[in-house]
Amino acid sequence: MKTFKICHLYGNLLNTYGDNGNLLMLQYHAKQRGMDVLTEVVTIDDTFDPEAYDLVFFGGGQDYEQKVIAKQLQSIRPGLQEFIEKDGVVLAICGGYQLLGHYYVNAKGEKLPGLGILNHYTERQINNRFTGDTKIYSEYFKRELIGFENHNGVTHLGENQKSFGKVIQGYGNNGKDQTEGTHYRNTFGSYFHGPLLVKNDWLADELIDLALSNK
Ligand code: GLN
Repeated sequence: MKTFKICHLYGNLLNTYGDNGNLLMLQYHAKQRGMDVLTEVVTIDDTFDPEAYDLVFFGGGQDYEQKVIAKQLQSIRPGLQEFIEKDGVVLAICGGYQLLGHYYVNAKGEKLPGLGILNHYTERQINNRFTGDTKIYSEYFKRELIGFENHNGVTHLGENQKSFGKVIQGYGNNGKDQTEGTHYRNTFGSYFHGPLLVKNDWLADELIDLALSNK
């Protein structure tokens, strides 16, 4: 029997707003397809083995945890970059999505270095958060997705960087350009809590399909 291997990046630190529900959905759908599921946390001081996993989940977090992680982040960079470039499937939500980019300026104004694997960067807003129900249209999946966002960060995509979807309702990356999240190869970044895969359960199957077709 195939074992579907999931990496929960910094899962002991980044797990806000029920994001772990995304893992429960992936585990449930993989088991429904007759696979065993193994979920491993990769955290501070660990390296990342690009051959070890079918899928990576990188959840959201508060500024405090993001600051702790940002100091140690580079130990996973080479392995995670290789995984992403070889079409490994990554789902990154909010804080995790921010840390895939070049930097994140937190609410206190501290500039935390990101992994810089993707080209976006995230600035802060003063005394404001983007909070509420959201809806986007994904050109790639040809479907609408619903979610809930709660972030101080204001993300700007790099030149030619694709979004995850177009905002129909809510703020998305920055409240201005109607982009939400990002999509590069098989890596998906998004501000959607909810959790994303509970509110849009078809996406769990799509991600598993992508992961299996990549092996
Ligand atoms: N701390 C980050 C922000 O406020 C991420 C929040 C989150 O992951 N929900 O933008």
